[in-house]
Amino acid sequence: MREAFPFSAIVGQEEMKLALLATAVDPAIGGVLVFGDRGTGKSTAVRSLAALLPSMSVVRNCRYGCDPAAVTRYCDDCRGRYDGVPLPAAKVSVPVVDLPLGATEDRVVGALDLERALADGVRAFEPGLLARANRGYLYIDEVNLLDDHLVDLLIDVAASGENVVERDGLSVRHPARFVLIGSGNPEEGELRPQLLDRFGLSVEVRTPADIPSRIEIIRRRDEYEQQGEDFIARYRKKNQAVRRRILAARERVAGVVVDDAMLGQMSRLCVALGTDGLRGELTLMRAARAVASLEGRAAVTIGDLCAVAPLALRHRLRRDPLDESGSTERIERALAELRAGALGS
Ligand SMILES: [Zn+2]
Repeated sequence: MREAFPFSAIVGQEEMKLALLATAVDPAIGGVLVFGDRGTGKSTAVRSLAALLPSMSVVRNCRYGCDPAAVTRYCDDCRGRYDGVPLPAAKVSVPVVDLPLGATEDRVVGALDLERALADGVRAFEPGLLARANRGYLYIDEVNLLDDHLVDLLIDVAASGENVVERDGLSVRHPARFVLIGSGNPEEGELRPQLLDRFGLSVEVRTPADIPSRIEIIRRRDEYEQQGEDFIARYRKKNQAVRRRILAARERVAGVVVDDAMLGQMSRLCVALGTDGLRGELTLMRAARAVASLEGRAAVTIGDLCAVAPLALRHRLRRDPLDESGSTERIERALAELRAGALGS
């Protein structure tokens, strides 16, 4: 199979790229909701980013992709084999798993392996998509059309980092840490506000209207398809630079300072916009910290806050949450007031 389209060759899509980079630095930011037209390469960007991340070390033959070094988070199988020495490792690339719309809950969380149950009379577990997505990305095209209870389940698992299956006489728990990426078309089906709130970031992907960008996109897409390896090779250095930037940012992110004054600015912004609860501020803080870290800064600046505020907040505003342009304008206005010191203390 051909290598993914190089991340550094993607034209435009600045919000999408920023969100993917930020969540690659700190997956605790949460999932990313992608709003946009069809055919804007939403899933391409996810695959491109995953492809440039360094391959990960997994326990050899583990069906859940356990991290050999994270002994406390081993699955039941690995825990059973563990005797004080980390289990043998293998290298695999960061997974991007597609969750098709018609997928059953069994397929997603895993289920009793019927073949083995019938043939050998054993209750064995057949892992599902969540097992494959562990430590990578779970991509759902048109998440707004997915069953509500399935989306709830996915968000719960993504937040807890663990998939627990208790049924059909099975009792299985395995690690399932992944970044959930859901794409939606604002015109088709609404997402419940509670659900919107639980995605960390939301981004808009549009087909660019300016001619030079469109020409460049078409040219690169054509070259990728016609030249394959040669095209990919041309972007290898740039991709490596992005990878180094992510790795360095991961190292530093925990130490990036968000002082009380900056947190106060974030709170003022959320109060002015009327976002419910505190999840908005928490996401804003984490996303701003990740971006500051990507920029090599030791502390979060107002510029970092402004860069991530639309992504962290636009899907949390009341009114029609899918009226994206309206939400973005409201946030931009509030940010201008914040910068001018007009949002009070
Ligand atoms: Zn394992």
